[in-house]
Amino acid sequence: MSKGWWNEDVTGNRLDYRRARVAYFFLLFLALISLALGLINLVHFKAIALSFVEFVVAGISLAGWVDLQKRKNLQRASWIAVGLAGGLVVFFFYYVRADFSAAAWAAFFVMLNFFLLGTRKALYTYTVFMGSILGLAFLHREQWPALHSDAALVNIVGALIAIGIAAYQQERSREQAEERLEELANKDFLTGVSNRRHFIETMARVQDEQASLDDACALLLVDVDNFKQINDVHGHAIGDEVIVAIIQRIVSAVRAEDFVGRVGGEEFAVLLRVGDRQIVEARAEAIREAVAGTPIATEVGPLSVTISVGVATGTPQSLKVREMFAMADKRLYHAKARGRNCVVMG
Ligand code: GH3
Ligand code: MG
Ligand code: MG
Repeated sequence: MSKGWWNEDVTGNRLDYRRARVAYFFLLFLALISLALGLINLVHFKAIALSFVEFVVAGISLAGWVDLQKRKNLQRASWIAVGLAGGLVVFFFYYVRADFSAAAWAAFFVMLNFFLLGTRKALYTYTVFMGSILGLAFLHREQWPALHSDAALVNIVGALIAIGIAAYQQERSREQAEERLEELANKDFLTGVSNRRHFIETMARVQDEQASLDDACALLLVDVDNFKQINDVHGHAIGDEVIVAIIQRIVSAVRAEDFVGRVGGEEFAVLLRVGDRQIVEARAEAIREAVAGTPIATEVGPLSVTISVGVATGTPQSLKVREMFAMADKRLYHAKARGRNCVVMG
């Protein structure tokens, strides 16, 4: 079985690989086990009604299994799997009067339900499922020995554990999805540092924090010198490699409390939480030197690359984010005019 077919569904949406795999194997397992039990009950025990139910279940799960592979409609396959599992558990509860095996099935159903359908839909099916079992238990309370025995306790504990596991799973996958979304929204794909939007957002937040302290901060705008040439001579891929290497050098040249972002194709920004002119200048120089100091090793050999830096300093009261960007940009332009590979502070 190749991994390929569950990569995307008919509409081109990515199929959730883990969910698709669970639905696939569960439907296959149910089809085979129901078929086997149906045959045993028919041939050996002559239990015609029971074997009929099992053949129907086998037929539906087999159809669901084939349908999942053909149509790749995971949602439909999930409903079939959950519907069959829930129906079987209710039937089981009724048939064997809620003994331990029914509790085990119930616990399994709850996990399958939440895993395949997700919390919102699973809560509806769970309510119907629990309602059916409680209804059955109420209707047949006289002949229901399990309600007066340890099995009832086992059922309740089993169901509680299952709900706990299901809730934990859901919460974890929600958290993972949120983290992934945040990363996608905030990070630059190529270099892994903050993208322009996140850099500006963070800078505004830092300024808000510093406003009350009246602390100055500094914004460094960095642009690679003659970068077009690197692209033109060596190709875009080498250009990308150089961008990644420059970012790495900038990141290792700054302090942990400084903040680095990629604000354009080959333009980067660094926010320093200091306003002192000498300190800022020294750090800007250190960044420039970190890039220009040694050639960058690339696939086509070492390339000497330089950067120009424009610096704006000010307190949050005197300069807003936009104004600091404009000032740093103007000075970056002056740095280019002065012959590149230099820092201009104004
Ligand atoms: P200057 O010294 O004046 O900055 O010269 P320059 O050639 O670097 O000029 P400019 O900054 O205007 O050029 C930017 C070039 O960077 C243009 C574009 O093709 C290239 N570029 C922008 N983003 C990317 C990227 O993500 N990858 C690669 N490989 N190149 C990029
Ligand atoms: Mg540029
Ligand atoms: Mg440039």
